[in-house]
Amino acid sequence: MATTKQSNDKMPNAHLHELFVDELRDILGAERQLLKGLKKMSSSAVSDKLKTAFDEHYTQTEQHIDRLKNVFQSIDLSARGKKCKAMEGLLGEADEIIESFEDSKDVLDAALIAAAQKVEHYEIASYGCLVTYANLMKHKEAEKLLSQTLNEEKQTDELLTKIAMNSANTNE
Ligand code: FE
Ligand code: FE
Repeated sequence: MATTKQSNDKMPNAHLHELFVDELRDILGAERQLLKGLKKMSSSAVSDKLKTAFDEHYTQTEQHIDRLKNVFQSIDLSARGKKCKAMEGLLGEADEIIESFEDSKDVLDAALIAAAQKVEHYEIASYGCLVTYANLMKHKEAEKLLSQTLNEEKQTDELLTKIAMNSANTNE
């Protein structure tokens, strides 16, 4: 963390708080945008396994949103999200992929998995930073809640890798 020019001890922390809240609003917006994306990815998926994975992550994503509301509450702020441009871009690319490979069912699932993993990696980066910030500012409750979500995003990423490997092996 870069130090500020002022010798005021409170300054870096105030800036970190600002960054923390800004990132929380970004990921809240992102999770909300993702609900719609997961619906579309699930309805486009060919294999039942992948469909189920997307549906289960939809339910998890609803929980991530609830958890974020609790994080805001734990620091006495109202839960306000903002439009996440990165998620908008990632979901835009997922849409393009669905359109391009709609008629190539043999690779559509692989393409959907790639798109979904890009989303998960964005979330993992965001929650990873948020956990670090919460830890630095000693927001214990927020840190606990954000770590829970971070773990679920990592598990989802691993599950998607497994599904991709299995379908490649069995030539489904
Ligand atoms: Fe999430
Ligand atoms: Fe996710």
